[in-house]
Amino acid sequence: MPNKVRVRFAPSPTGSLHIGGARTALFNLLFARHNKGTFILRIEDTDTERSTEESASQIVRSLKWLGLDWDEGPEKGGEYGPYFQSQRLELYKREVQKLLDEGKAYYCYCTPEELKERREAALKSGKAPRYDGRCRNLSSEQIAKFKAEGRKPTIRLKVPEQGQTEVYDLIRGKVVFENSVLDDFIIFKSNGVPTYNFACVVDDHAMEMTHIIRAEEHLSNTPKQIHVYNALGYELPQFAHVPMILAPDRSKLSKRHGATSVEEFRDQGYLAESIINYLTLLGWSPEGNEEIFGLDKTIEEFSLKRVNKTAAIYDVKKLTWINGHYLRELDLDYITKQVIPFMIKKGIIDEQQSKEDYEYIKKIVDVSRDRAKTLDELADTIAFFFKDFDEYEEKGIRKHFSKENAAELLTKGAEVLENLQEFTHDTTEKAFRDLTGSLGLKAAALIHPTRLAITGRTIGPGLFDIIVLLGREKVVERMKKAAEWINENISK
Ligand code: GLU
Ligand code: ZN
Repeated sequence: MPNKVRVRFAPSPTGSLHIGGARTALFNLLFARHNKGTFILRIEDTDTERSTEESASQIVRSLKWLGLDWDEGPEKGGEYGPYFQSQRLELYKREVQKLLDEGKAYYCYCTPEELKERREAALKSGKAPRYDGRCRNLSSEQIAKFKAEGRKPTIRLKVPEQGQTEVYDLIRGKVVFENSVLDDFIIFKSNGVPTYNFACVVDDHAMEMTHIIRAEEHLSNTPKQIHVYNALGYELPQFAHVPMILAPDRSKLSKRHGATSVEEFRDQGYLAESIINYLTLLGWSPEGNEEIFGLDKTIEEFSLKRVNKTAAIYDVKKLTWINGHYLRELDLDYITKQVIPFMIKKGIIDEQQSKEDYEYIKKIVDVSRDRAKTLDELADTIAFFFKDFDEYEEKGIRKHFSKENAAELLTKGAEVLENLQEFTHDTTEKAFRDLTGSLGLKAAALIHPTRLAITGRTIGPGLFDIIVLLGREKVVERMKKAAEWINENISK
């Protein structure tokens, strides 16, 4: 086994990349990078009925979007390829043949119907359903008869009937399994395709993996895989099973708990940085109390020793909080470029405008971004800069437009702004204060209705930042329009 760490993420392309898978990929990448090792992506697509190319490319796309770059695998290649199991069937056939030749595996001619019948009978009599090994020692006559019947055999591994199999897990320590609970499981299906537990071991060995870091749900597969390693005479890698991710009510995470796939989170306006930061904390804890972690810092600190044994609880509120943090803190150009597609999708601007008005959009994002938790929300909160609206926030109408002098104040305010020489943050603010002062009012009496008039909302960035960015013409027009609206809609 090479000294250099080699680890892999080995998804089955039977659906999109979910946060559980992304977290497994992340921990493998962290472990590889921390140890200056190699991170491999291998697509386990031997299950021809459930695997799709679309899922494979979606997984690849999601991993790339998250910035979980692999060193060997699809699109990258590498010395140990191909990295799609469907392209490695020759190797599995060669390896299983060795086991057949050595008498460590055998053909089983039992049909699915027979197996089902026996399983049901076992369950009925209260026994654990296990394959009884009846094809271990078939005579050549029996085999000939089965073949003549047109039966297509599977291949099973001979598993010791007694004893124990110990898994040394880097997170959980020693876990002992009784061999008697295992049966001679199928390693090759009757359609000539290996099962997961066989193909996985052959590849992990052929690709010289040093550590197998995967989800806890695979812990029960590990003793089976150890039997495959032993039968093939392969050296064992080290194992680490990362804890499950559960919903807040400790049930299995599912659709009803909201978004679970990486692309759904992306489409809802979460940044890759936030998801990575959040996933880092799902089952792993840093030394200190710091919760905001960039990938580089996590790589420096990461160790399997700090991975928890207990399940991690998924909490979208925390993810959203982290996302708000990154929206505020990351490079302004970067955030601007991230929000533009959301604005285009919502019809707030078009492609052309996103280029021509880029600098303008950037200024708007700059003053607005600390109020949004997602890119989607950010796009909504800045829409008023680009589009007129014809609805005012209900609460604002009650609080600010229903005041006796609201329409009049807005009209006067608009006039003052129209006549200003210079139109800046400071001059507009002074004009507002002078006007309200001369009427014996507080500035807020004008600021609140103006905000509602020009943005449609009661909260948002500093009003004078907005006024300047929106520009005199639009501000004046919207203030006058609001005054009219009040006169028409609010009975005195
Ligand atoms: N293809 C398996 C899965 O997606 C891989 C498990 C493993 O890492 O061994 O669950
Ligand atoms: Zn059989």
